[in-house]
Amino acid sequence: MNNKVRGILIGRLQPIHKGHIQVIKKILDEVDEIIIGIGSAQLSHELKDPFTAGERIVMVKQALAEENINPSRYYIIPMEDINFNAIWSAHVKMMTPPFSIVYSGNPLVKQLFSEDGYEVRNPPLYDRLYLSGTEVRRRILADENWQELVADSTVEIMNEINGVERLKNLSVKEISDL
Ligand code: NAD
Repeated sequence: MNNKVRGILIGRLQPIHKGHIQVIKKILDEVDEIIIGIGSAQLSHELKDPFTAGERIVMVKQALAEENINPSRYYIIPMEDINFNAIWSAHVKMMTPPFSIVYSGNPLVKQLFSEDGYEVRNPPLYDRLYLSGTEVRRRILADENWQELVADSTVEIMNEINGVERLKNLSVKEISDL
């Protein structure tokens, strides 16, 4: 469509962090447009997946605005999981603008799209020890500096939605449910 080269990056983005932002910028050096799939869109209010797809969309959009990335260069599309891995890539294809390159470091994602004939590229990982959603969520619960791992706008959105309190309440609930 319009002869644009499009790449796709699918991540849970719970929440988007500076590693994701750097990789999105790198992908935009290589393609005309990027499709950012908000993975496991149906999940929220869980320790591993605390934020709704809608909240994650706003976090992504504002983090990219902070980087002065032109909104005409990306699509943000929520992607619910489905039970059948073998047809997941077809499900993604059905829900998104046409794309030719898949960017992922996730072995299952790479496997499924390469079996389906897509070009799969492994983007570089930036400071993976610190720049991961797991580490952001761990620091939030431990009252450590999680803010340095995310965009300033993400910190603001977390304040608006009481995100820290939500995560802490979820951790109490899940422990007491054991
Ligand atoms: P994620 O947020 O962990 O990572 C997304 C991508 O971001 C990674 O592949 C990596 O390329 C990049 N990234 C992460 N940290 C980075 C860093 N520090 N530096 C640079 N890049 C970094 O998300 P994920 O778990 O890979 O997301 C895959 C999604 O696809 C999940 O929601 C999963 O449920 C979904 N999925 C669904 C099915 C199905 O429904 N059957 C099958 C496969 C995958």
